[in-house]
Amino acid sequence: MFYEGPPTANGTPGTHHVEARAFKDVFPRFRTMQGYRVPRRAGWDCHGLPVELAVERELGLDGKPDLERIGIAEFNAHCRRSVQRYVGEFEAVTTRMGYWIDLSTAYWTMSPEYVESVWWALKRIFEDGLLTEDYRVTPYCPRDQTTLSEHEVAQGYESVEDPSVFARLPLEGELAGHTGVELLVWTTTPWTLVANTAVAVHPDVEYLVLRADAGTFVVAEPRAADVLGEAEVLARVRGRDLDGLRYRRPFDLVEIPDAHRVLLADYVSTTDGTGLVHLAPAFGADDLEACRAHGLPVVNPVGADGRFTDVDLVGGMFFKDADRVLVEDLARRDLLLRHDRFEHAYPHCWRCHTPLMYYAQPSWYIRTTAIGEALRRENDATNWYPGHVKHGRFGDWLAGNVDWALSRSRYWGTPLPLWRCERGHLTAVGSRAELGERTGRDLGDLDPHRPFVDEIAFDCPSCGEPAIRVPDVIDAWFDSGSMPFAQLGYPHLPGSAAELARSYPADYICEAIDQTRGWFYTLMAVGTLLFDRSSYRNVVCLGHIVAADGRKMSKHLGNVLDPMALMEEHGADALRWFMLCSGSPWSPRRIGHEPLREIVRKVLLTCWNTAAFFNRYAALSWDAGEPTEQRPVLDRWVLAESHRVIAEVTERLEDYDTAGAGRALAEFVDELSNWYVRRSRQRFWDGDPNALRTLHETLDVLTRLLAPFVPFLAEEIWQCSVRPGAPEAPESVHLADWPRPATELVDEALMSRVDTERRLVEAGRAARRDAGVPVRQPLGRALISPDLPDELRADLAEELNVREVATLDSAGEVLAVTVRPDFRALGRRFGSRTQQVAAAIGAREPAELAAELREAGSAEVRPNGTTERITADDVRISQVPRSGWVVRTQQEVTVALDTAITPQLRLAGLAREVIRFVQDCRKRDGLEITDRIALHWQAGGETRQAVRAHATEIAAAVLAVEITEAEATEHTDPELGLGVRLAVR
Ligand SMILES: [Zn+2]
Ligand SMILES: [Zn+2]
Repeated sequence: MFYEGPPTANGTPGTHHVEARAFKDVFPRFRTMQGYRVPRRAGWDCHGLPVELAVERELGLDGKPDLERIGIAEFNAHCRRSVQRYVGEFEAVTTRMGYWIDLSTAYWTMSPEYVESVWWALKRIFEDGLLTEDYRVTPYCPRDQTTLSEHEVAQGYESVEDPSVFARLPLEGELAGHTGVELLVWTTTPWTLVANTAVAVHPDVEYLVLRADAGTFVVAEPRAADVLGEAEVLARVRGRDLDGLRYRRPFDLVEIPDAHRVLLADYVSTTDGTGLVHLAPAFGADDLEACRAHGLPVVNPVGADGRFTDVDLVGGMFFKDADRVLVEDLARRDLLLRHDRFEHAYPHCWRCHTPLMYYAQPSWYIRTTAIGEALRRENDATNWYPGHVKHGRFGDWLAGNVDWALSRSRYWGTPLPLWRCERGHLTAVGSRAELGERTGRDLGDLDPHRPFVDEIAFDCPSCGEPAIRVPDVIDAWFDSGSMPFAQLGYPHLPGSAAELARSYPADYICEAIDQTRGWFYTLMAVGTLLFDRSSYRNVVCLGHIVAADGRKMSKHLGNVLDPMALMEEHGADALRWFMLCSGSPWSPRRIGHEPLREIVRKVLLTCWNTAAFFNRYAALSWDAGEPTEQRPVLDRWVLAESHRVIAEVTERLEDYDTAGAGRALAEFVDELSNWYVRRSRQRFWDGDPNALRTLHETLDVLTRLLAPFVPFLAEEIWQCSVRPGAPEAPESVHLADWPRPATELVDEALMSRVDTERRLVEAGRAARRDAGVPVRQPLGRALISPDLPDELRADLAEELNVREVATLDSAGEVLAVTVRPDFRALGRRFGSRTQQVAAAIGAREPAELAAELREAGSAEVRPNGTTERITADDVRISQVPRSGWVVRTQQEVTVALDTAITPQLRLAGLAREVIRFVQDCRKRDGLEITDRIALHWQAGGETRQAVRAHATEIAAAVLAVEITEAEATEHTDPELGLGVRLAVR
């Protein structure tokens, strides 16, 4: 079971949407091929502030007053149209990238059935006593005039420079016999000083009365040196001794009765500031709690729009802008000890970037703190990919979980389904039918949005007075967290209960890592609130996709890559492969044209060319071939590899590891093309049924394995290469079964020998490079270690272009080995006998001694009739190739090439050059690869000898049915002194 996390349809889809969508696609495709039924229903997140803001911009509205002028009905109609338009763009990207999901049955969180399901959920939570109203200080965006939930705040920290102010608050009367003492408080939000109500100190902390140049101050002892530097200590008091002292407040702008005294609070810390905390209960959660506990009033001089109300000095001013004016005023009145600027992370609205206020106002909460234990239990039972998110980012988030601030004083959202009468009785409503019953009207066709639902009132069931709706809408994250049941219209729609029982919880969900505080959280929280069980078992959290310059894509930086344009240029498969298989999906990844080009070149075109190669030869008739175990070694090898890859890719995908699966696939594609096909060319040319059958079987497997990753390429190869040779094959690879590894074909010994052979080839090529002998020049002999079976030896000889491959019995054959004593090492061990031991070392056959030291780690020597054991550390071994040999040891294999070029080898090399040249000429003449030719040639010297000596070989290689020495100057190669003319026969 897979749940689609609904993208918010408030803008054009970006490249990062392709990332999540590729991951959402690959596992359902994989599981479907494995035989599971995986329903894939699309969904669109329609409500919320992002949509409202987009519409405000579109209509040129500036804030709530503008918006209420055009009316909620019209505004919401615009929101609905905006969502529909962007959903269209998401559908286009979804289709283009091959994300196999059912768009026709998509759920929309704004549909009446969806809204009713959410109402049902809220009614349940209300009846459980977990949906409550409270006056609390919450993060608040004054631009959008709405509260933000903690998970929204977590997404919007921005680094800003703020004032850092030490304000002086003169005490009334005396302290410890001293007069003229001032309290020092530190704040980075001077605008809150207007509402200063009290100063808190910790009851148990020691405070000092200090005389400094600027005056006499009270500061907590641990902060004194930092704040005042050198100062004379006049007195020491406990925090509790300061309780109740009155001080002169910093501003006389608003009336705050019975305030401005010192009170005690345990949360006061001495890690920064002065250890005395200025309290403004309207602007801080701790402040509110402390002031309430002491019966102090909550006075709020800032309006809902973030501007000061009608007060002197800063009336009408935006709260942040007031800082400067207020600080200047303090300075003028000599109430400022110090004023710095400092940079820190301050929460901003994640949508409109306005600095947030912490602001006291009534709001509706879901008491998620009451289910904290259940949430932690459900998290423990969830598999996170990558695993560290569980107890890291997500676990930390749950550990610090606070109640969910649910209500928003906005317009385009699911209306809070609560009605209240004048006496304060609350009634929750779970559906339109229920609302109809209460009003006695048929409301089956009611649009359950504002303003229509606001107009519905009914008699309070408790007292009979009229009840009207609480005007808030809810956090849109609650909508998306409700999708497991709301997409089914549960519990109102017929059959929805049975469907929910079948589909809850999901086996798999996936989004980017930023959703740990968004959808991953709300989905788990809503599920646990309603069903006491999280709604998902496995969750993949993706790192972000960034631009090629490593920065977040933004219009402002001009580094945005449009996903449609990328797919038009490089193909949807290239973009999918990048998302699924390039680098670690857990980390931020840079996308650009170059990585996509490389994927096309290295992976996709290699697959394509292999299939095209097959098609070219499969056009000729071919029969069943022999049973696998009787086929040549290369066939058995590639089939063994393909079944090993089936096992590996299956295992990786079952562990949600697309990058590992992609690596295995890319390596196999390379082996298939650059080893199997290349080494088997001649057999294909000869129409060998074993080769054709083997390649067909391999492509069948490969195409199925590729299908979830690159559905377009896989389908094309399936249609062009696999189906024509397999009448019983399903009509699409996407209807085919996932292959099962045939373990009997996975011949580990064979794969290991071919692996050795391939390493020998690499070492041999490196040896040729060392010797400066071109690949086309045949050589007489190669000695190899370790040895290979005959079948592979012949293959290796061809690959290295040597006449003979033999075993390298001992390095001494091709290397002059010297073993010299290391006198310093010997001296430490043998002291005065060093010379004797050194002589004994010199007496042994060096190659034999070196081999013994290498294999056994130590060797015996016999100085003057005694026996001693030496190790490799006691000697210095050097190996120099004997004359005429070049030796290469790498990756645990050794190849020695006999570099002597005899006259015969020289002619054979020239014959190869001639073949290469004639093949070029065939291409230049535009011949088909099957065209037979008559070859006329003329040459002198060695080239002439070479052509004569190798005429049969040349004729076979270039498809010449006739080869004649005659005047021919149509194509000439001056280096070879060769002229040729080709005539099609
Ligand atoms: Zn905002
Ligand atoms: Zn009532």
